[in-house]
Amino acid sequence: MGQGFDTKSVHITMKRNDLEDIENFYTGERDYLYTRVGNPNTDELGQAVADLEEAPAGIATSSGLSAIMAGILSIVKSGDHVLASHDLYGGTYELLANELTGFGIEVSFVSFEEDLEQHIQSNTVLLYTESITNPLLRVENLTKVIEIAKKYQLKTMVDNTFATPYLVRPYTLGIDLVVHSATKYIGGHSDITAGVLVGNDDLIAKARQKCVNLGSNLSPFEAWLTVRGLKTLAVRMERHVRNAEKVAKALEAHPAVDRVYYPEYVSEQGKGAIVTIDITENADIKTFLQSLGWIKIVATLAGVETTVSYPLGTSHRSLPKKTQEKLGITEGLIRISIGIEDVEDIISTLNHALDNAKK
Ligand SMILES: *Cc1c(COP(=O)(O)O)cnc(C)c1O
Repeated sequence: MGQGFDTKSVHITMKRNDLEDIENFYTGERDYLYTRVGNPNTDELGQAVADLEEAPAGIATSSGLSAIMAGILSIVKSGDHVLASHDLYGGTYELLANELTGFGIEVSFVSFEEDLEQHIQSNTVLLYTESITNPLLRVENLTKVIEIAKKYQLKTMVDNTFATPYLVRPYTLGIDLVVHSATKYIGGHSDITAGVLVGNDDLIAKARQKCVNLGSNLSPFEAWLTVRGLKTLAVRMERHVRNAEKVAKALEAHPAVDRVYYPEYVSEQGKGAIVTIDITENADIKTFLQSLGWIKIVATLAGVETTVSYPLGTSHRSLPKKTQEKLGITEGLIRISIGIEDVEDIISTLNHALDNAKK
């Protein structure tokens, strides 16, 4: 960056030398004036994730949701139509269903596994989905989504939070915008809230301007922490994924578990690190959650520690009841974020809780 900022430090204010130097900010090459309109630490994070996703440009924002908002607004305006997958993360669903519609943007939620083309309207401009869905871990057929988008000249946007660039790089396949809740694996330690959006220079420049105007910049210190977390993404993911494969297998064998949701295939690097189980028929959910010992019940995921969350009560409580039922967000559905601990500790603790809860 122009002024030679050292991103080993956190930068909040940027001194200008004189009137001419102030004018330079607006008329010259992009540099730094004030954190809401740009900051070396947040730029470092945006670019680092863009590099991992093999995309030219990226921005970091205050949360996954603000990155989604900036991305969508860089493509869509009032009167346009967004075709979104019906099994999105609950917060994204609320943003699309309750806020975008208030700006005069039309949104339909449909199954991307069915015939997508029948839902395309004359004002459709964007297809929005997740590479691995939350919490049922459906792996999106991105090639099919891209093919349809090309045919109808639509833009595409994918939430790659669960897969991370370690498993999937949607931009390299032809997806226009890739978004992350960096709160999850990108940061990796459950100690920050951040979002990242990557894509081509043109779309990212537009999204950056939206963030400036909406005030959804990330704090420099959070960016600095997230960059620090990002340095270990590959080693964390390798261990997360290896543990998760073993945990999924062990849970399949437990009689208290009705069903294990774990992808059959994501990429050569593995199948991801979230395992979701349904215990509605064979176990008591309350007893299970009370018997987890050191495994914490939380409303987030993807930290180095194993945690469980309860989609019906948290992330997916805002979905319409009919959609919850259709998708299988049941009373006994538990999403387990597999950490990097000794896998035998994880398996024995989960087995113990399931033994206790078995009906
Ligand atoms: C958590 C999450 C989000 C929202 O991110 P925040 O950082 O909480 O705003 C979006 N998409 C997915 C898949 C998530 O898991």
